[in-house]
Amino acid sequence: MVETSRPAGVRELPIVGGHLALDFANTVDDPEGPARFDHVATYPGLLEWSVRVHTVSATDAERLAALPDPADALARAHTLRSALGALFAAVTDGAPPEPRHWAALRGFAAEAVANAELVPEGSGYTLGWPRPRRPESVLWPVAHAAVELLTAADLARVKRCAGCPWVFLDHSRNSSRRWCAMNDCGTHAKIRRYVARRAARRDQPAAGADTGG
Ligand SMILES: [Zn+2]
Repeated sequence: MVETSRPAGVRELPIVGGHLALDFANTVDDPEGPARFDHVATYPGLLEWSVRVHTVSATDAERLAALPDPADALARAHTLRSALGALFAAVTDGAPPEPRHWAALRGFAAEAVANAELVPEGSGYTLGWPRPRRPESVLWPVAHAAVELLTAADLARVKRCAGCPWVFLDHSRNSSRRWCAMNDCGTHAKIRRYVARRAARRDQPAAGADTGG
Protein backbone atom coordinates (compact mmCIF):
# COMPACT_ATOMS: atom_id res chain seq x y z
CA MET A 1 0.00 0.00 0.00
CA VAL A 2 1.41 3.39 -1.01
CA GLU A 3 1.59 5.71 1.97
CA THR A 4 -0.72 8.68 1.76
CA SER A 5 1.22 11.87 1.18
CA ARG A 6 -1.59 14.05 2.45
CA PRO A 7 -1.17 15.76 5.82
CA ALA A 8 -4.05 15.70 8.26
CA GLY A 9 -6.55 18.43 7.48
CA VAL A 10 -5.93 18.36 3.72
CA ARG A 11 -8.87 16.91 1.83
CA GLU A 12 -8.65 14.14 -0.71
CA LEU A 13 -8.20 15.67 -4.14
CA PRO A 14 -11.49 15.73 -6.08
CA ILE A 15 -11.09 14.03 -9.48
CA VAL A 16 -13.55 16.03 -11.57
CA GLY A 17 -11.80 16.87 -14.87
CA GLY A 18 -13.55 14.09 -16.77
CA HIS A 19 -10.31 13.30 -18.61
CA LEU A 20 -6.97 11.95 -17.45
CA ALA A 21 -4.86 14.80 -18.85
CA LEU A 22 -7.15 17.46 -17.38
CA ASP A 23 -7.22 15.71 -14.03
CA PHE A 24 -3.43 15.77 -13.98
CA ALA A 25 -3.48 19.51 -14.72
CA ASN A 26 -5.85 19.84 -11.73
CA THR A 27 -3.59 18.21 -9.14
CA VAL A 28 -3.05 21.46 -7.21
CA ASP A 29 -6.16 21.80 -5.10
CA ASP A 30 -7.58 25.28 -4.48
CA PRO A 31 -4.77 26.73 -6.66
CA GLU A 32 -5.54 30.36 -5.90
CA GLY A 33 -7.20 29.94 -2.52
CA PRO A 34 -6.31 29.59 1.15
CA ALA A 35 -6.38 25.77 1.10
CA ARG A 36 -3.86 25.46 -1.75
CA PHE A 37 -2.20 22.05 -1.72
CA ASP A 38 -0.12 20.34 -4.37
CA HIS A 39 -1.13 16.68 -4.33
CA VAL A 40 1.83 15.64 -6.48
CA ALA A 41 4.48 17.66 -4.65
CA THR A 42 6.17 14.38 -3.77
CA TYR A 43 6.77 11.14 -5.67
CA PRO A 44 4.55 9.16 -3.27
CA GLY A 45 1.87 11.78 -3.95
CA LEU A 46 2.27 11.22 -7.70
CA LEU A 47 1.96 7.45 -7.20
CA GLU A 48 -1.08 7.85 -4.96
CA TRP A 49 -2.80 9.97 -7.61
CA SER A 50 -1.83 7.49 -10.35
CA VAL A 51 -3.42 4.63 -8.42
CA ARG A 52 -6.57 6.68 -7.88
CA VAL A 53 -6.95 7.40 -11.61
CA HIS A 54 -6.05 3.78 -12.47
CA THR A 55 -3.01 4.49 -14.63
CA VAL A 56 -1.03 2.16 -12.40
CA SER A 57 -2.02 -0.71 -10.15
CA ALA A 58 -1.44 -0.56 -6.41
CA THR A 59 1.06 -3.42 -6.77
CA ASP A 60 3.03 -1.61 -9.49
CA ALA A 61 2.92 1.60 -7.47
CA GLU A 62 4.51 -0.21 -4.54
CA ARG A 63 7.23 -1.48 -6.82
CA LEU A 64 7.83 2.00 -8.28
CA ALA A 65 7.91 3.49 -4.79
CA ALA A 66 10.84 1.22 -3.96
CA LEU A 67 12.96 2.42 -6.92
CA PRO A 68 15.93 4.66 -6.07
CA ASP A 69 15.82 8.44 -6.41
CA PRO A 70 12.61 9.44 -8.17
CA ALA A 71 13.55 13.16 -7.94
CA ASP A 72 14.07 13.44 -11.67
CA ALA A 73 10.72 11.79 -12.39
CA LEU A 74 9.01 14.18 -9.99
CA ALA A 75 10.62 17.22 -11.63
CA ARG A 76 9.52 15.90 -15.00
CA ALA A 77 5.99 15.38 -13.67
CA HIS A 78 5.87 19.06 -12.78
CA THR A 79 7.20 20.02 -16.22
CA LEU A 80 4.47 17.93 -17.84
CA ARG A 81 1.80 19.40 -15.58
CA SER A 82 2.90 22.97 -16.37
CA ALA A 83 2.84 22.22 -20.08
CA LEU A 84 -0.65 20.70 -19.86
CA GLY A 85 -1.91 23.59 -17.76
CA ALA A 86 -0.62 26.10 -20.30
CA LEU A 87 -1.83 24.13 -23.34
CA PHE A 88 -5.36 23.64 -22.04
CA ALA A 89 -5.56 27.19 -20.69
CA ALA A 90 -4.77 28.34 -24.23
CA VAL A 91 -7.49 26.03 -25.57
CA THR A 92 -10.09 27.45 -23.18
CA ASP A 93 -8.97 30.98 -24.08
CA GLY A 94 -9.34 30.20 -27.78
CA ALA A 95 -5.67 31.05 -28.23
CA PRO A 96 -3.08 29.04 -30.17
CA PRO A 97 -0.92 26.91 -27.85
CA GLU A 98 2.65 28.15 -27.42
CA PRO A 99 5.16 26.01 -29.35
CA ARG A 100 7.35 25.53 -26.24
CA HIS A 101 4.46 23.98 -24.32
CA TRP A 102 3.67 21.66 -27.19
CA ALA A 103 7.38 20.81 -27.49
CA ALA A 104 7.42 19.85 -23.81
CA LEU A 105 4.38 17.61 -24.17
CA ARG A 106 5.69 16.13 -27.43
CA GLY A 107 8.81 14.90 -25.66
CA PHE A 108 6.74 13.02 -23.08
CA ALA A 109 4.33 11.70 -25.70
CA ALA A 110 7.16 10.40 -27.89
CA GLU A 111 8.66 8.64 -24.88
CA ALA A 112 5.23 7.24 -24.07
CA VAL A 113 4.81 5.71 -27.54
CA ALA A 114 8.39 4.45 -27.49
CA ASN A 115 7.60 2.47 -24.34
CA ALA A 116 4.02 1.46 -25.08
CA GLU A 117 2.55 -1.99 -25.64
CA LEU A 118 -0.44 -2.75 -27.85
CA VAL A 119 -3.23 -3.69 -25.49
CA PRO A 120 -6.46 -5.26 -26.84
CA GLU A 121 -9.46 -2.96 -26.51
CA GLY A 122 -12.86 -3.58 -28.06
CA SER A 123 -12.32 -4.87 -31.57
CA GLY A 124 -8.85 -3.33 -31.78
CA TYR A 125 -6.00 -2.10 -29.64
CA THR A 126 -4.99 0.80 -27.51
CA LEU A 127 -1.62 1.87 -26.17
CA GLY A 128 -0.87 0.63 -22.69
CA TRP A 129 1.94 0.52 -20.17
CA PRO A 130 1.15 -2.70 -18.34
CA ARG A 131 4.51 -3.27 -16.66
CA PRO A 132 5.87 0.09 -15.51
CA ARG A 133 9.51 -0.20 -14.51
CA ARG A 134 10.77 3.38 -14.44
CA PRO A 135 9.69 6.11 -12.04
CA GLU A 136 8.52 8.30 -14.93
CA SER A 137 6.37 5.47 -16.39
CA VAL A 138 3.34 6.93 -14.65
CA LEU A 139 3.61 10.08 -16.80
CA TRP A 140 3.26 8.24 -20.12
CA PRO A 141 -0.48 7.48 -19.99
CA VAL A 142 -1.10 11.11 -19.07
CA ALA A 143 1.02 12.51 -21.89
CA HIS A 144 -0.52 10.15 -24.43
CA ALA A 145 -4.05 11.00 -23.27
CA ALA A 146 -3.23 14.72 -23.57
CA VAL A 147 -2.18 14.34 -27.21
CA GLU A 148 -5.29 12.31 -27.94
CA LEU A 149 -7.48 15.02 -26.45
CA LEU A 150 -5.66 17.86 -28.20
CA THR A 151 -6.27 16.17 -31.55
CA ALA A 152 -9.87 15.08 -30.90
CA ALA A 153 -13.18 16.75 -31.69
CA ASP A 154 -13.86 16.65 -27.96
CA LEU A 155 -11.32 19.43 -27.49
CA ALA A 156 -14.16 21.90 -28.01
CA ARG A 157 -15.66 20.57 -24.79
CA VAL A 158 -12.64 21.51 -22.68
CA LYS A 159 -13.59 24.37 -20.40
CA ARG A 160 -12.14 26.26 -17.51
CA CYS A 161 -14.14 26.42 -14.28
CA ALA A 162 -15.96 29.73 -13.85
CA GLY A 163 -14.69 29.90 -10.28
CA CYS A 164 -11.10 28.58 -10.35
CA PRO A 165 -8.32 27.66 -12.80
CA TRP A 166 -9.27 23.97 -13.02
CA VAL A 167 -10.14 22.60 -16.43
CA PHE A 168 -12.66 19.92 -17.29
CA LEU A 169 -14.22 18.10 -20.19
CA ASP A 170 -17.86 19.07 -20.40
CA HIS A 171 -19.81 15.87 -21.03
CA SER A 172 -23.19 17.53 -20.45
CA ARG A 173 -25.64 17.17 -23.33
CA ASN A 174 -26.09 20.90 -23.95
CA SER A 175 -22.51 21.91 -22.98
CA SER A 176 -23.82 23.81 -19.97
CA ARG A 177 -21.37 22.77 -17.27
CA ARG A 178 -19.71 25.80 -15.68
CA TRP A 179 -18.01 24.50 -12.54
CA CYS A 180 -15.22 22.08 -11.74
CA ALA A 181 -17.53 20.77 -9.01
CA MET A 182 -20.98 22.02 -8.13
CA ASN A 183 -20.35 21.48 -4.43
CA ASP A 184 -17.16 23.58 -4.54
CA CYS A 185 -16.98 26.49 -6.94
CA GLY A 186 -20.67 26.18 -7.91
CA THR A 187 -21.79 26.50 -4.32
CA HIS A 188 -19.45 29.42 -3.66
CA ALA A 189 -20.88 31.22 -6.67
CA LYS A 190 -24.43 30.45 -5.53
CA ILE A 191 -23.66 31.89 -2.11
CA ARG A 192 -22.14 35.00 -3.69
CA ARG A 193 -25.24 35.46 -5.87
CA TYR A 194 -27.52 34.92 -2.87
CA VAL A 195 -25.64 37.50 -0.80
CA ALA A 196 -25.77 39.94 -3.72
CA ARG A 197 -29.53 39.40 -4.17
CA ARG A 198 -30.16 39.94 -0.47
CA ALA A 199 -28.08 43.11 -0.53
CA ALA A 200 -30.03 44.31 -3.57
CA ARG A 201 -33.34 43.62 -1.78
CA ARG A 202 -32.16 45.51 1.28
CA ASP A 203 -31.37 48.47 -0.95
CA GLN A 204 -34.84 48.31 -2.51
CA PRO A 205 -37.34 47.77 0.33
CA ALA A 206 -40.27 48.69 -1.92
CA ALA A 207 -39.58 45.82 -4.30
CA GLY A 208 -42.31 43.71 -2.73
CA ALA A 209 -42.75 40.65 -0.56
CA ASP A 210 -39.83 38.38 0.12
CA THR A 211 -40.12 35.54 -2.35
CA GLY A 212 -38.08 33.35 -0.13
CA GLY A 213 -35.64 32.63 -2.94
ZN1 LIG B 1 -13.62 25.43 -9.77
